[in-house]
Amino acid sequence: MSILSTAQMQKWASLRKGQSALVSALLLFFGACQQGNAPVNELKPTIKNAPPKTIMAIFAHPDDETIVSPLLAKYADSSNVHLVLATDGRYGVTDHAGIPAGDSLIAVRKAETECACAALGIRPPHFLGAKDGLGLNGHHNFYEEVAQLKTAIKEKIALLRPTTIITFGPDGDTGHPDHRMVGLLTKEILLREGWATEIDLYHFGWLKEQTKKFPEDWGLGYTRAEYMNTAVRFRAEDEEKAFTSLRCHKSQYTKEEMDEWIAAERKDTTNILYFRKFSIYAKKAEHF
Ligand SMILES: [Zn+2]
Repeated sequence: MSILSTAQMQKWASLRKGQSALVSALLLFFGACQQGNAPVNELKPTIKNAPPKTIMAIFAHPDDETIVSPLLAKYADSSNVHLVLATDGRYGVTDHAGIPAGDSLIAVRKAETECACAALGIRPPHFLGAKDGLGLNGHHNFYEEVAQLKTAIKEKIALLRPTTIITFGPDGDTGHPDHRMVGLLTKEILLREGWATEIDLYHFGWLKEQTKKFPEDWGLGYTRAEYMNTAVRFRAEDEEKAFTSLRCHKSQYTKEEMDEWIAAERKDTTNILYFRKFSIYAKKAEHF
């Protein structure tokens, strides 16, 4: 890589999105060989605007996908969209559903998430089988749960080979420790395995204004707008699919709660979700 000029490095970076490293390398090679003939520049607009080939959205619990579901519906038209859920949601007991913790609740929530994915038009969900709470609830060993989950996430990334990963940011949306852990483990794996240069990693976050449309007791985290480097717009039709998919999660929300949530979203017509793209700054510094 040291033989590349800064301009070539930038060209590399802008070309890489939406294609494999091998294709990028070939294009870059031919571009470098034929400077002035500009075959790369001719290709650039198409490639730059190409949607990700494979998106992996990884969250903690069945129903966590609701924070980004309009975008999953949007990209279902152009990308392979996979939803990966770390836990089986066995402890997500609610008064209105009355389903006890354990196998019966796991089965119900699995079916609800399959229903949600079908409504969004994405692939059937992947479950990594961790137990929600990851041991912090006292039912299991925290270190064992996290170690197993880390291996499971790594294997799923290796299998799906996503070009883009969407996950929680540092606030974990509601601050739930499972949410924070999934975001952290995913980033740790990309850094450890050397995949962070191949896979675009996006951390979801709300802007403060956006959190005001939801009940205060949800305790949503937020990020300053100036630190969000990616704003993705979705269409009304994507949002309609998201509403249909939300209604699948009957064990988690009453009809009234879902109606209120959908009404709040309908009132917000900005239809944009924000992310912070994780970037690798490779230039070495010698001081802080
Ligand atoms: Zn959750």
